[in-house]
Amino acid sequence: MADFAERPVSALKGVGPKREKALSAVGIENLLDLLTYYPRRYLDRTKEARIGDLVEGDEASVLVTIKSTSMRRVRGRAMVNSTVTDGQSSMALTFFNQAWREKQLVVGMQAMVFGKVGSFRGQLQMTNPIVDLVGDKTGRIIPVYPQSEKAGLSSWDLAGWIAETLRRSLPPKGRGVLDPIPDAIIREFGFVDRNMALKSIHQPEEMQDMSQARRRLVFDELFRMQLALVQRKRLLESTQVGVEHVINGPLVQKFAESVPFDLTLAQKRTIAEISADLATPVPMHRLLQGDVGAGKTLVAVASMLAAVDGGHQAALMAPTEVLAEQHYVGIRKMLGELTVPDPSTLMGERPLKVALLVSRMGTADTKRILGDLMLGNIDIVVGTHSLIQDRVMFDSLTMVVVDEQHRFGVEQRAALRDKGPGELVPDVLVMTATPIPRTAAMTVYGDLDVSVLDEMPPGRTPIVTKWVEAPGSLEGEPPLDLELMWQEVREQVGEGRQVYVVCPLIDESEKLEVASAEVTHERLSNLELEGLNVGLLHGRLSSAEKEETMEEFRSGRMDVLVATTVIEVGVDVPNATVMVILDADRFGIAQLHQLRGRVGRGAHESSCWLVGEATTPDGESRLEALVAETDGFILAEIDLELRGEGTILGERQKGRNDLQLASLRRDGEVVVQARQSAIEVLDADPGLANQPELAAELQLFFAEEDEAFLMKG
Ligand code: ADP
Ligand code: MG
Repeated sequence: MADFAERPVSALKGVGPKREKALSAVGIENLLDLLTYYPRRYLDRTKEARIGDLVEGDEASVLVTIKSTSMRRVRGRAMVNSTVTDGQSSMALTFFNQAWREKQLVVGMQAMVFGKVGSFRGQLQMTNPIVDLVGDKTGRIIPVYPQSEKAGLSSWDLAGWIAETLRRSLPPKGRGVLDPIPDAIIREFGFVDRNMALKSIHQPEEMQDMSQARRRLVFDELFRMQLALVQRKRLLESTQVGVEHVINGPLVQKFAESVPFDLTLAQKRTIAEISADLATPVPMHRLLQGDVGAGKTLVAVASMLAAVDGGHQAALMAPTEVLAEQHYVGIRKMLGELTVPDPSTLMGERPLKVALLVSRMGTADTKRILGDLMLGNIDIVVGTHSLIQDRVMFDSLTMVVVDEQHRFGVEQRAALRDKGPGELVPDVLVMTATPIPRTAAMTVYGDLDVSVLDEMPPGRTPIVTKWVEAPGSLEGEPPLDLELMWQEVREQVGEGRQVYVVCPLIDESEKLEVASAEVTHERLSNLELEGLNVGLLHGRLSSAEKEETMEEFRSGRMDVLVATTVIEVGVDVPNATVMVILDADRFGIAQLHQLRGRVGRGAHESSCWLVGEATTPDGESRLEALVAETDGFILAEIDLELRGEGTILGERQKGRNDLQLASLRRDGEVVVQARQSAIEVLDADPGLANQPELAAELQLFFAEEDEAFLMKG
């Protein structure tokens, strides 16, 4: 494989500077890139339809010959028409805005077209079908490579170069590629060997061969990734030293007794998992995944108290000031009565001190807090990004919690972790309310331990979600459903409950977003919700104004809060029971689920209204999913289904360490197998000293500069 990586594509016949550039545009620089550029799909010539058998409405693949092609402009738009035949019958192809098709569809050429069959003036026709030029290929199964048209590369060019590479390197002509995957694994899963897999993925004789090849190559990709992740995790564990915390100390016990409700089993289990980590000198790197409202804060507080029990400090970092303030208020309330030992006082103890550090605080307050942190007079500090400034120093920070971790960059989380005492590394708990499927978590957070809060506190009534198909901007005559919705809002307020109205998301401009929130606020105050106390919260308010508004809402003096998505994360007002989301189709599933999670947090029955017209099929599926499901993990699966994994893997999606063939959606089971195998291999041979070929392969695929992508925690 390393040999392939060293050979540029220019070594191939027919690849000059122009082709080299086109290949580079699709990320192919060398023969390894070429061989791991896998077909997008396969055309099975025995399965193709005949034009004569097609009826309107069918979706079909047809192998045709181009009979004629012409282009004209209709109101400035290019329209290319082609007539094609399968030897017996003919049909028309029509392309809009694809002027280049005129040159592509040369008369006499063979092509596979795939699309929906329609008709025009009595003749069968496909509009904007997918076209794969097949050249003069005679094989039964033809591979089709991705993006080949855009870069000016045809699928058969690629197939040709790949064939040349395979012919020269695989037996009988070549030496073949090395297979560094341990034999035991190959046998356990009944994999075909790597040479065979590479050949069959590109040139299958039967579709069955292709599936075998795919199974093998998917495993290789996932196995490499898991090896890298698990190895990285173990390296950190063996080189970093943290504090052995006291677990179940006096503060933790008193706290547990003071909680006014029973912990859920999931909370108990999670706290036990964390405690086990805290007790060892190996620094914890743990992710706590839990749906909105599952009670993550309590788990975080219990963990932080373990640090305080040992005479150390803990910090909780939240992404917004609103959330930091709320945590501060909430945690102070939870810990109000607790004391810590202090020999300098008469009683030998002092109240446990929780402090808030956010940027809006005055210089004097900030100075005092910074001083107290350094002296160890503050036990738990809650804050925003302010916590990671250089001037923030601790006496002994040994426990770090990062809430809504996806809102922070890797460096920001690391900056807080670097504030531990001397060389000691604090235990780190990162939390997220954006659940992702378990197998995706193994890939994205593979270097972290994961705890899952998969149980809601009892007594919650499920939130009833309704979708009202009406303009989300509230323009025009309101339909009956909307009137019912506002009526429910007024009734709920009449019963003492509170309501959120979330305004349309405007991507391009915060200014426009604020303007629309102001307009909505104005309208609701004067029309639908006249007479109620309606407040407004958006990103352009000063921190003080934001806090004042939130305080008024939290205290119950305000009935309705009209807000932009600043309230998306974390906000916890159990008395709020109605969530209205305007222009709901503009939000993603995870975001809608987060917003909805702001209600249903108390004992009262809650509802969520999604207002908007689905303008895309995906938008419709999203809204329907929200109506049907309240479980964040199931919604995460649906989201993965709708959007693909690119969004989950995010920034990781570049470079050779990409998943080229594997799909977190399709291959979830293989992820689990690959991780298990990686753990077994590394248990037996931690540095891969006895398997130099495997180590070299990891080196090849995970060059050092890629390491940052691996490190999510
Ligand atoms: P999230 O996981 O979304 O951060 P929070 O920690 O804010 O959730 O908890 C949501 C609400 O549930 C809070 O009001 C909290 O007091 C309450 N809560 C947490 N654990 C329990 C429990 N075991 N029983 C009842 N209520 C709980
Ligand atoms: Mg929370």
